[in-house]
Amino acid sequence: MNVGIEEPRALYQKRIPIVTRSVKGRFRNFKWGVMVLAYTVYFGLPWLPWTREGVASQAIMFDLAQRRFFIFDLVMYPQNVFWLALLLFIAAVMLFFATTLIGRAFCGYFCFQTLWTDIFVRIEKLVQGERPARIRLQRQPWDKEKILKLGATHALWVLLSFWTGMTFVLYYGYAPDILVRFFTGHAAYAAYVTVFSLTVSTYAAAGLMREQICAYVCPYGRFQSVMYDPETMAVAYDAKRGDAKLGRAAPKGELKIHEIRQNKGYGDCIDCGFCVQVCPTGIDIRDGLQYACISCGLCIDACNIIMDSVGYPRGLIRYDSEANMAKPVPAKPHIHWMRPKVLGYSIILSVMTGALIYSITSRTTFEHDVHQIRQPLYVVLSNGDIRNRYQIRLTNKSGKDMRYRITTQGLPRGALDLDEGQAVTVHSGNSVVVQASIKLTPQQVGKYPRFDFVITPLSQPKDKAIEQVNFYSRKNEQ
Ligand code: SF4
Ligand code: SF4
Repeated sequence: MNVGIEEPRALYQKRIPIVTRSVKGRFRNFKWGVMVLAYTVYFGLPWLPWTREGVASQAIMFDLAQRRFFIFDLVMYPQNVFWLALLLFIAAVMLFFATTLIGRAFCGYFCFQTLWTDIFVRIEKLVQGERPARIRLQRQPWDKEKILKLGATHALWVLLSFWTGMTFVLYYGYAPDILVRFFTGHAAYAAYVTVFSLTVSTYAAAGLMREQICAYVCPYGRFQSVMYDPETMAVAYDAKRGDAKLGRAAPKGELKIHEIRQNKGYGDCIDCGFCVQVCPTGIDIRDGLQYACISCGLCIDACNIIMDSVGYPRGLIRYDSEANMAKPVPAKPHIHWMRPKVLGYSIILSVMTGALIYSITSRTTFEHDVHQIRQPLYVVLSNGDIRNRYQIRLTNKSGKDMRYRITTQGLPRGALDLDEGQAVTVHSGNSVVVQASIKLTPQQVGKYPRFDFVITPLSQPKDKAIEQVNFYSRKNEQ
């Protein structure tokens, strides 16, 4: 008896390189628009000049050494981490909201992985040519042409990856300074490590791994289906129209004419494969909704071009909902806003965004903390007067040096030992502790059990802060 020996199975499926074809159309144009905007913002912002305290700076700067972050005229400190938490929460809800409405549109148009992969593919095409030329180059033996073209492609990828990493570092200081220090070998060790790590990761993710990041690394693709419902718009192939009774067929002879084709029972799909060739994740949308689909819409553009060329109606592949596609005669696709999930996300988004805007617009330029020195709680002076001491901490959260005047209200004149005309200077981002004493005569003590400290920033008197404190003496304690 012959016992068959099974071939050992590989643990991982071998990657078949995806060589995409270019396509023109509405969704491709939208993707270009988003890409230009995203790249302009990312690469341009560190070079946008901004003046702070009369010193040349940049609009966005994360000053780690001083632990403050500048976003135009907004200065953030570690204490404002609440804003960051709120922002992340809003971003997450926005992602769920968008996915419920239009599927993985974020992945297809706005994700860094998509944006960088797209430009890497563009470079590949510029150097090596359109899809057939690139496939030919892959298959041909290592000759001078192959070495030169692949070498140039990878060199340009490395250059872009390097500049991506370099730009990231430019956000953490004054960009012109960092750049000079980096290339003269005087930058911080962390800058070199960061640039190196980001160069390698960008090159690997956008140049080598590409769609594998979306399919195997990114967790979002795996749990996106939780947010889908039958009304979610997603890129879909209209199988009823495309396959009909007899399936797909090339437009040959009389099958070129739409009516004849329909009467004979053939679908509108001419099985040209253009939709598969343009797909950055290499899937065939005609097999149905798949987790690898990033909803980029390029297959819609491709199929519309084909439909135009054979004179059939557009929209064989389109953004549509499962519920609409299931109808005997699907209606014109449109977004369904009036759904409990969508309304729920909208309410959460509005509340969270409102809270963030309110918190930012009502922020103060300084923080204060008045603390009574309790050991001893009060002192009886040799002349019988009673003295209480207080510690006042001022933190300047504005982007410039500030001067503050500390006064009191609700006390007789001269009770505060600070010169009322004198102001305390606090440098931007710094804290200063001021010691203040209040002295009352035995006759005054009973009248003033409580009073206010008034802290007034001289340049913004309307932002003054008032803090009520107690005045202790034996009389007040009883
Ligand atoms: S199937 Fe279409 S929408 Fe999905 S990733 Fe491929 S080209 Fe983009
Ligand atoms: S591009 Fe359109 S016609 Fe061509 S294979 Fe895809 S679905 Fe069919």
